[in-house]
Amino acid sequence: MAATKAKNQSSLVLHKVIMVGSGGVGKSALTLQFMYDEFVEDYEPTKADSYRKKVVLDGEEAQIDILDTAGQEDYAAIRDNYFRSGEGFLLVFSITEHESFSSTVELREQILRVKSEDDKIPLLLVGNKCDLEDRRQVSVDEARGKAEQWGVQYVETSAKTRANVDKVFFDLMREVKLKKMSENKEKNGKKSGKSKKSLKDRCCLL
Ligand code: GDP
Ligand code: MG
Repeated sequence: MAATKAKNQSSLVLHKVIMVGSGGVGKSALTLQFMYDEFVEDYEPTKADSYRKKVVLDGEEAQIDILDTAGQEDYAAIRDNYFRSGEGFLLVFSITEHESFSSTVELREQILRVKSEDDKIPLLLVGNKCDLEDRRQVSVDEARGKAEQWGVQYVETSAKTRANVDKVFFDLMREVKLKKMSENKEKNGKKSGKSKKSLKDRCCLL
């Protein structure tokens, strides 16, 4: 029975999500809040780690794999490997630090460069620490404007109060799932198209 269970678990669809953003914006706090329902205030800032959790996405069981990056991204090769392995990205800044918002522009470009084969990459712009309204440096309008320009969703979160934490992970997984579904359709379409063509080619030879 244990074997059956293990088999079921491993056959679940896996959605690979990467946390991206400058240091101190709350990538680890958001990850740990989503994973374990707790606010961790002093997570080691240089520690990158990955987490896996079983979820129910729109009534269907799946697994999420979260890679919480932490500074090693400064080394281009490591960063590119991380980004390449991701299917969806939470691009996080802190609403209390304008510089972290500015950094998202370059981080997004790095993601696009690595995933250049993709037309639309599942990505959400996340303004974290929304519980610290009195320290806000990035207005909702400014962030929303950027997100609109990029054609992505903008969501404000708080890893402290848990506001919108589930939402950003689930909305992103939904985007990843949709993209996989449309890619599969395309692949199948191409396959049948190709076989038709080769059949036609063979006919020509005859
Ligand atoms: P990372 O470097 O992006 O992983 O950032 P961390 O998750 O380590 O968070 C950096 C600091 O910000 C820590 O002291 C956290 O407790 C704090 N922090 C993270 N998210 C929030 C939040 O939503 N609200 C508040 N008030 N503090 C937060
Ligand atoms: Mg961290």
